[in-house]
Amino acid sequence: MRQYKDYPIYINVPPPALKANRDKNLAEQGAKHNFRETARLRNVQKYLDDIQIDPAPGAIALAFESEVVKHLDLVASRRIGKVTLDSLNPSEKVWIIPLSPDERPDDCNNCEAYVRSTTAAGGGGIRLYYSPSQSLIRNKWVISSDDTLYHELVHALRFGWNGSPENSEWIEDYDNKEEFIATIMENLYVSSRGGRQFYSHYRPPVSMVSKQELYERYAKSENLIRWFKRCTFSDSFIWAMARRNDPPFNPWRDREELERRWVKANQKRGIKKFPGS
Ligand SMILES: [Zn+2]
Repeated sequence: MRQYKDYPIYINVPPPALKANRDKNLAEQGAKHNFRETARLRNVQKYLDDIQIDPAPGAIALAFESEVVKHLDLVASRRIGKVTLDSLNPSEKVWIIPLSPDERPDDCNNCEAYVRSTTAAGGGGIRLYYSPSQSLIRNKWVISSDDTLYHELVHALRFGWNGSPENSEWIEDYDNKEEFIATIMENLYVSSRGGRQFYSHYRPPVSMVSKQELYERYAKSENLIRWFKRCTFSDSFIWAMARRNDPPFNPWRDREELERRWVKANQKRGIKKFPGS
């Protein structure tokens, strides 16, 4: 186990025997159709196991720790990454735990990484499952990037302050408010590292598009513009983002420009101002 600088981030590879034992119990309880117990093993027990510290970590565990540190160093080297790390709730531990290719199908529908907040029964804090390794995703070998890690850190930041995901309504192409915020922030991060191609949205298939094209898409959607506004006025972190001069891609800051473009495109319908503004 290794703490990242003095952030509340702990990189941990639990003792391998715990997973082996859990898998054995899962198979036994599954055969008995004891779904209450299998659910407990998959959630509470897994959260507890994942924060157990191996007194004698092996080479694979040490390599995982140093690879994650490299990716965190990359995140911390970008201004948007640094301000996000600095904004984590210092009293909520974020545990970064490996997500191996064989766990992906069952644990998260083949995702690259995911975040869960836990209750006291699960040991408290936040679990961020992520491996900065190559893995087979949709028949392609993909290296998990610092963009992905950054996206997950945005979830961790929000869960750290809010306790759990905000139950919110469906946002087309984004699923929900958490993924909307994490994806838009991921694009600010891309811009902060000098990237010029941005994630089109959250729901697969995702394409990489220019700022101009993506802003045009945002400006066509009354609903998305409303969400940019709602998030800005309901979340102090987003509010701080909206007041920044950097990075170049920052629709929180540029929301009023998006509103003006939307109004212009809808003038023919007699619209003179953005609804609610
Ligand atoms: Zn996400």
